Amino acid sequence: MNQILETGDLSGFYEPAAPGARTVRDTRPLFVGSGRVTVVVEGRTAYLFIGGSAHLVHELPATFERRDVHSWAQQVAAELAGAPVPEVLPEPLQELPAGLSYRMEAVTGHGSGAYRTPVNRGRYVVLVDGESPWATRRPEDCLDTSDRGVWLGGAVLVCLSCGLDCT
Ligand SMILES: [Zn+2]
Repeated sequence: MNQILETGDLSGFYEPAAPGARTVRDTRPLFVGSGRVTVVVEGRTAYLFIGGSAHLVHELPATFERRDVHSWAQQVAAELAGAPVPEVLPEPLQELPAGLSYRMEAVTGHGSGAYRTPVNRGRYVVLVDGESPWATRRPEDCLDTSDRGVWLGGAVLVCLSCGLDCT
């Protein structure tokens, strides 16, 4: 007997399908706007993502089974379809001089593994003329432990390796 079924553990990664498919061939991924809907469940806690951005956290009722996770996601998507998807990214902490911009992608930490340090909400990677000149694309993968930075435009201090705003 499968232990997971006995305990009703719903943990896992879900890729809900759009409602209405009558055959497997008809099955389409579930989208809100241009964002694909996915769900990660840990125990009874469901994290719903839209286009890779965390959208909401929900405690699943004890009566839920695996298939209910899919219909719950479809219901959330249907409710959101009429309304614009709320912007989950916080505002940047500061304005940037001309020529500099932020890559509006959530940063969850700076540095890799044991060297990771938390990053305040609203901190992003700085782009120069819309491009990333940095050796490391994601701050989460940054291996620079030197704490050296470079001032850009005299206004913003960024990590030399990944371009994270550390002002
Ligand atoms: Zn870095």
